[in-house]
Amino acid sequence: MALVLAGGTGSRMGQPKQFLDLLGHPALSYTLRAFEETPEVARIYVVGDRERVEGLVREYGISKYAGCTLPGESRSLSTRNGIALLEEDPLSVVLVHDGARCLLTPDLIRRVVKTIRVSGADGLVPALPVSDTIKAAEDGVVMETLDRTRLHAVQTPQAFRLGSFRDLHAGPDEQLRAATDDASLVEGAGGRVLLVEGERTNIKLTTPDDLVFAEAILTARSGMRSGARS
Ligand code: C5P
Repeated sequence: MALVLAGGTGSRMGQPKQFLDLLGHPALSYTLRAFEETPEVARIYVVGDRERVEGLVREYGISKYAGCTLPGESRSLSTRNGIALLEEDPLSVVLVHDGARCLLTPDLIRRVVKTIRVSGADGLVPALPVSDTIKAAEDGVVMETLDRTRLHAVQTPQAFRLGSFRDLHAGPDEQLRAATDDASLVEGAGGRVLLVEGERTNIKLTTPDDLVFAEAILTARSGMRSGARS
């Protein structure tokens, strides 16, 4: 099953980024469609504004939609609210995804599901090696240049076994608030988290510039599809 987090307020964008218009359709409609089109995903749950989400589910014919709940005050608290909706078997795989990463593909989703199933890992995250040099700084002063060969930029969907993932979210709110992704909770508890290759185009809408990139990627994809037909 997929758990799509779409409860952010979009403080860096000035409005909720998951509902921004991309070529005439809300960003979240592309996200939901990618899961809808992936046979390995049986159900789609969403965290966010139920009225808006369900309007979009009807308009875009998302037949795997299975429920929506209210967000929490941080991303991980939203994840915890979402987990409360899930009644599947504890050994089943849950895919937690940022609603604002609307350009993910069924191919990526399929690879993530297949890899966690065969690996037996506690968690699995799509990631790409960083291409920029990363420096740690404080008040504008560089403190350290990190070893780039070890660094990976992490994406979603991240995959976990529902039972153990649910247990980790029973921890104190402060512990959850500090987590910027779901896998870090698994790592913190000593779990084994593996990387699978992410996609360059799987960007998260964060600042207005990202809308330009996202529309360019969608335009290129629709060009490829119509090219394939002709
Ligand atoms: O803020 P950030 O970019 O990390 O958000 C990632 C995803 O988590 C977004 O899709 C956002 O809507 C969602 N989110 C949420 N509840 C929050 C904060 C973020 O569902 N409290």
